[in-house]
Amino acid sequence: MSEPVEPSPSSGASRTRRSVLVAGAAGLAAAPLWAATPAAPALGAYAADRDGGSGGSGERSGDAADGVPLTPDRVLRILEDGNRRWVAGRLRHPHQTVARREQVAGAQHPLATVFSCIDSRVPPEIVFDRGVGDLFVVRTAAQTNDGLVQGAVEYGVEESLTPLLVVMGHQRCGAVSFAVETLNAGRDAPAHLQDVLDALRPAYEAAKGLPGDQVDNTVRAQIRLTVRQLEHDALLEPYERTGRARVVGAYYSLDTGVVDFCV
Ligand SMILES: [Zn+2]
Repeated sequence: MSEPVEPSPSSGASRTRRSVLVAGAAGLAAAPLWAATPAAPALGAYAADRDGGSGGSGERSGDAADGVPLTPDRVLRILEDGNRRWVAGRLRHPHQTVARREQVAGAQHPLATVFSCIDSRVPPEIVFDRGVGDLFVVRTAAQTNDGLVQGAVEYGVEESLTPLLVVMGHQRCGAVSFAVETLNAGRDAPAHLQDVLDALRPAYEAAKGLPGDQVDNTVRAQIRLTVRQLEHDALLEPYERTGRARVVGAYYSLDTGVVDFCV
């Protein structure tokens, strides 16, 4: 049976999906995929918001160096800068023009993968002031993880070499509140909400009995546990071990708009 072939956005060449996964999972000691892929996200593409704006710290044109791969630290600074603009009400809306749409139509090189909650008040592109082609975004209720989610996150690193994975929970998460209330009452949840409940049970158990607000403690436990799951992902681990990618936890405040990366 022939294997489906899909175009690779990172190399421009066609290759089988299986060959990509094998290269990532087994061949990373010598880092062939990363080193041989010239189209990894580069600092130059994000050094200035070319759609407009006067440039912010961490994205100054003086830092620009087309072709220089973005490191996890640099990407983190870019996201922090964008979040500061969001908090201060000084959004620059980078990469949200027709020109940008056309620029990335043929290939994408996102900065980061953000795995976050579905909550309508926490849209990653807005809270980090980014635009089209900048972020892979995976969203589930209370950023609950499963094999499909983990595969999506792996795709971002394996296919587009995104250097940073952000697991972002948030203040007063409704899904976590639902889970805490239901589990405290010893009830089951209807239909597939039971899947969400089951996925949140480890965080619920980890936070149970801690001083402070039980929902907030569970949100933070869920972030930490998910970070740990991704850090131990067999496909991602070699990237992390060699410093090419990093998983970070983040907590978003609905009240202030601040993303705290210190979770
Ligand atoms: Zn939520």
